[in-house]
Amino acid sequence: MIDRTGITAPAIISAISRVHRVVRANEEYLNELDAVVGDGEHGLNLRRAFDRVNNKLSATEVEKPGEALRVIGFELVASGGGAGATLYGTAFMAGAKVADEVDVIDLSILSEVFDEALGDILDRGRAMLGDKTLVDALSPAADAVRAEAQAGSSPKEALASAAQAARNGAIATKEMEGRKGRSVYAGERALGVPDPGATSTYLVLAALADQPCRVPL
Ligand code: ADP
Ligand code: MG
Repeated sequence: MIDRTGITAPAIISAISRVHRVVRANEEYLNELDAVVGDGEHGLNLRRAFDRVNNKLSATEVEKPGEALRVIGFELVASGGGAGATLYGTAFMAGAKVADEVDVIDLSILSEVFDEALGDILDRGRAMLGDKTLVDALSPAADAVRAEAQAGSSPKEALASAAQAARNGAIATKEMEGRKGRSVYAGERALGVPDPGATSTYLVLAALADQPCRVPL
C-alpha cells in the first residue's frame, strides 16, 4: 500500500494500472496537444508504452519495489514510443537504481527517486527549465516531494503535492516557447498550449497519487 510508511511492490503495480487507465482516457487529449507542437502522437506513444508495461507486469512476479520500477522502466524504453516514452523509461529506471534492494520506498527514498529521475532526464535530454518540456512539470514535483520529506509527511501526501506542483508547472508551459524536441519548430503557434509531456507528467503523477485528473489545463 501507499500508506504512512511507504510504497511496496504491489502498491506500485496497482498505481501503474491507474496510470494505464488515465493514459488511455487522455490519449486523444495528449495527441491533440502534441499535434500543435509536435507529431501528434504523444498520447498514442504513451498509451502503447503503458499497454506494454501492464502486459509485462501481469506476467511477471516482482517482490521488491525496485524490481517493479526496473520492469516498468525497461518496458517504457523498449516500447520505442518517441522521446516521451524513452524519457519516462529513464525516470523509472533511475528510480530502480535508488530503490534497489529496499522492501519499501519510504519518503526519503521517494525524494531521492524523484531527484535521480530528474537528473537522468536532464543528462539524457539536455533540456533546461523553461524549455517547454516535461522537465517543467517534473522539476517542481521533485521540489515538492523534497519539501514534504523535510516536513515529515506521508508518501501519499507527498505524491499528491508532487501532482499539484506538476500541474502548476504544466500550466506554466503554456506561456513558454519550445526549445527542445519537435516543439522548436512550432514557435509561437504553441503559445497558449501546454507541453504534452509536461501535461502527461501531471496526469501520471495524479494517477500515482490516486488523485482526480483535472484537464484540460
Ligand atoms: P516525440 O517528441 O519523439 O514525438 P512524444 O511526442 O512521445 O515524443 O513526447 C514529446 C514530449 O517529450 C515533449 O512534449 C516533451 O515534454 C518531451 N521531450 C522531448 N524532448 C525532450 C528533451 N530533450 N528533454 C526533455 N523532455 C523532452
Ligand atoms: Mg510527439
